[in-house]
Amino acid sequence: MRSNPPRDAFWQQWLRPWRLIGLVFLLASLSFCGVPIAQAPLVPHAPPDPATPMVAPTLTAIPTVEAAPTAMPDPAAPRRVGLQVGHWRIEEHPDEQARLRRFSGAYYRGYDEWELNIIIARQTMERLEAAGVAVDLLPATVPPGYLADGFVSIHVDGATGAQATTRRGWKIATPFRASAASDALAEAISAAYPRITGLPEDPLGPSYDMRAYYAFAYYRYHHSIAPETPAVILEAGFMTHPADRELLFGRPDLIAEGIAQGVLRYLAAYDPSDAAARTPVGRALLRPAREDAPLYARPDQQSAVERTLVRDERLAPMAETGGWVLVFTHGGNWDLGWVRTEDVEETGEALAPPVAPVHSPQGRSGGCALASALRVL
Ligand SMILES: [Zn+2]
Repeated sequence: MRSNPPRDAFWQQWLRPWRLIGLVFLLASLSFCGVPIAQAPLVPHAPPDPATPMVAPTLTAIPTVEAAPTAMPDPAAPRRVGLQVGHWRIEEHPDEQARLRRFSGAYYRGYDEWELNIIIARQTMERLEAAGVAVDLLPATVPPGYLADGFVSIHVDGATGAQATTRRGWKIATPFRASAASDALAEAISAAYPRITGLPEDPLGPSYDMRAYYAFAYYRYHHSIAPETPAVILEAGFMTHPADRELLFGRPDLIAEGIAQGVLRYLAAYDPSDAAARTPVGRALLRPAREDAPLYARPDQQSAVERTLVRDERLAPMAETGGWVLVFTHGGNWDLGWVRTEDVEETGEALAPPVAPVHSPQGRSGGCALASALRVL
C-alpha cells in the first residue's frame, strides 16, 4: 500500500537542518529518491507513456538474509555482495530509524520506487549469482554491521515541478569517509552502467544526502553496514522522465546488466586480503577546541555561521579540505557543517552511534532517545 506521510510538516522539518549546507547543497539534494521541493505537489507531471510496457511488480520476494553480523570476508569463499532494494519494507525500520518508515521515495503513476527497485535488484542478483557471486537481497533495514565484499543500494529517482520532464540520468555516490574499495566499486559501476544502458549521467551529480545515506551511517545508526564493507548508492535514473522511464520499466534487464557488469568488474580487481583498502578514510570523533567555535555553512569564513558549538560536543568528521573539516554534530539535530581545522581537536573516540541499542518487547533494536529529532537521510 502506498505510504502517505503528512508531507508538508514532514518536509518542513526535514529541510530545516539543511540550512547548514546552503542552497547549493539543498538544490543538489532535491531529486534524491524523489524528494520534492517543500511545498510542491507530489503528483508527477509527465503523462504515462502508453508505449512503455509496465513490468508487474513482484510482491512475494523476501530478504535473503536476516539481521545478523557476518564474519570477515574469507578469501577462499565466493565473493559476497549485498544488493539493497531501496525503500523495500520500510515499515520494518527499527526505532532508531523510525522516521524512515514514512520515506517511500519516488513514485510514478501508482508505482512506488521500491517496486521498480526490486525488479532491478532481482535481475542483478540473477546475473551475479550466474557468475558465482553470493548475493544477499536486502530490504531497507540492513543487518547491523553487515559485512560483505560489496554493497550496492539500488534506487531510482523522481522529480516534480519544472524538472519532472527534464531532469534525467543516473548518479552514484560512495559513503562519506569512503574507503579505496568503495571508490573502486563506484568507478567500476560508473564505467559499465552508462555503456550498457546508454543513460546519461545526471549533471547535478550526487548529493550530500546520498553520501550520508542512513545505511552507510555507522557513526549514527546501529542498523548500518560495517565501515569496512565497500559500498555505493546508485540512482539508476528518473522514473519521472519519459526516456529514463522507458528504459527503467521497459528494459530492467539492461539496467540490471549495467549494475552487474560494474560489480563483476570491481570484483575482478578486488583483493579480499587487502584490509587497508576497505578501511574508511578519516579521523575519529572530534570536539571543539574552544567554546562557541562556529559551524559554517561552507568552508569559507564569509559564509553563514549556522550555530556555535558547545565545548563538550562531539563531531563526526566526514571530509576534510584546505584547513576545513565537514562534520556532523553527533546526536541531536545531526547538523552538518564546516569547522576550521584549528577549531577542533582529537578525542580518540571511535565513531559509533551516540545511543546504545535498546531491545524493545517487539524485538526491534534501536530505541534511540533522539529519534524524534533525527533527520531522514
Ligand atoms: Zn530511493
